[in-house]
Amino acid sequence: MHQKTLAQLSALLQSKQVSATELARLYLDRISASNLNAFLHVDPELTLAQAAAADARLAAGNAGVLTGVPIAHKDIFVTRGLRSTAGSRMLGNYTSPFDATVVEKLAAAGMVTLGKLNCDEFAMGSANENSYFGAVKNPWDLSAVPGGSSGGSAAAVAARLTPAATGTDTGGSIRQPAAFCGITGIKPTYGSVSRYGMIAFASSLDQGGPMAQTAEDCGLLLNAMVGFDEKDSTSLERKPEDFNRLLNQSLQGLRIGVPKEFFGEGLADDVKQAIHAALEEYKKLGASIVEISLPKTELSIPVYYVIAPAEASSNLSRFDGVRYGHRAAEYTDLNDMYTASRTEGFGDEVKRRIMTGAYVLSHGYYDAYYLQAQKIRRLIAKDFAAAFTQCDVIMGPVAPSVAWDLGAKSDDPVANYLADIFTLSTSLAGLPGMSVPCGFGQGEKNSRRPVGLQLIGNYFEEARLLNIAHQYQQVTDWHLRSPE
Ligand code: GLN
Repeated sequence: MHQKTLAQLSALLQSKQVSATELARLYLDRISASNLNAFLHVDPELTLAQAAAADARLAAGNAGVLTGVPIAHKDIFVTRGLRSTAGSRMLGNYTSPFDATVVEKLAAAGMVTLGKLNCDEFAMGSANENSYFGAVKNPWDLSAVPGGSSGGSAAAVAARLTPAATGTDTGGSIRQPAAFCGITGIKPTYGSVSRYGMIAFASSLDQGGPMAQTAEDCGLLLNAMVGFDEKDSTSLERKPEDFNRLLNQSLQGLRIGVPKEFFGEGLADDVKQAIHAALEEYKKLGASIVEISLPKTELSIPVYYVIAPAEASSNLSRFDGVRYGHRAAEYTDLNDMYTASRTEGFGDEVKRRIMTGAYVLSHGYYDAYYLQAQKIRRLIAKDFAAAFTQCDVIMGPVAPSVAWDLGAKSDDPVANYLADIFTLSTSLAGLPGMSVPCGFGQGEKNSRRPVGLQLIGNYFEEARLLNIAHQYQQVTDWHLRSPE
């Protein structure tokens, strides 16, 4: 049962072959038996109460397609019933008085919350090793990282501890862990999914999205997650759409843009081979390959690591031990209280970003760093606009290598930043991006570690991306493999 996709579980619930309560118990048991450190907060009583309510809806005949299906939330989404820590000691004991819009929408659809998922502290990281609550293990190889920052989400779906999870992507945090754990994830166009109640990291980049086994499942989740929210000032007002409406459309004539900058020296051979094999599969489906160029790809790293920390330094100023967060037990005066609380509450990577951010925003450096970065950000978006005159979708690797070993890069922030090279530019441009399992590499240890194919679409082309991913998933089974 736990191998079933969300769509399959939904069908079984609708036809009363399984109950929401049975599913909730099944996954709760799997969660308590797992050793991945993927879940931070679980409350079986709360879960079973939601499942009972879902069963009542199913019995009364007013259930939707997601009613009774379990889900777990990245611990960056605030929840009333469960603690919300953002992977930080700063919020170690925090319980929100309200639910994030995403949580509320999925609950309104009747989904049953299994718990909250581990993540990098304030979503800063690429390996889930920056969590105050410890690293998450990759279910394919317990000595590998699951990717980050939504590492708990990806590991939990891959290990079938939940059929679906929410994630957030600021610079790749849905796509890269999805790739490292062999699952499917999509970051929609910036502004599609409400940021209300998503603990802020870099507000002009942060975007929530679904992570699940298949593209079809992601579409079902997007249908419930997307929508205008007056509580989020950057939320987009658009007509509702069915993101799965194009799933079965043929790919005959599809033009796939392959950026030459994504296949340079830094790309590992095993990843390159898997991506090329996937492109061959697409040719068989009727697509053609067009070589394109995204010349600013390399600059996306310095640009992102100026803009994201700048926004983070501002967003995280609210955690001062007074308005929010951990307060030090001992201090001499007010200033010392702030200093001691923030020193104790934040981890190293978060401090590094706050300092970098404050620096690039300070008088005299603003023009040299922050303003320059904003200008290049615009040029990066222009590169994509030019590329989309030549192709319908862009494809390449999600990351330059498969998952690395736990600890291998934990002392080297720059090595972590460099691994984000293929995901950052999509985020900077606000475009939708997706990760689709497309094979396995070896890693350094000769173990089987998943490879993710990245699909990047033009603005609001989510339905098309899901179609392109779904067609591939009809002729391959990488997305159905599981580590057990
Ligand atoms: N790895 C990137 C970072 O550390 C992206 C994180 C994210 O998307 N939340 O900032």
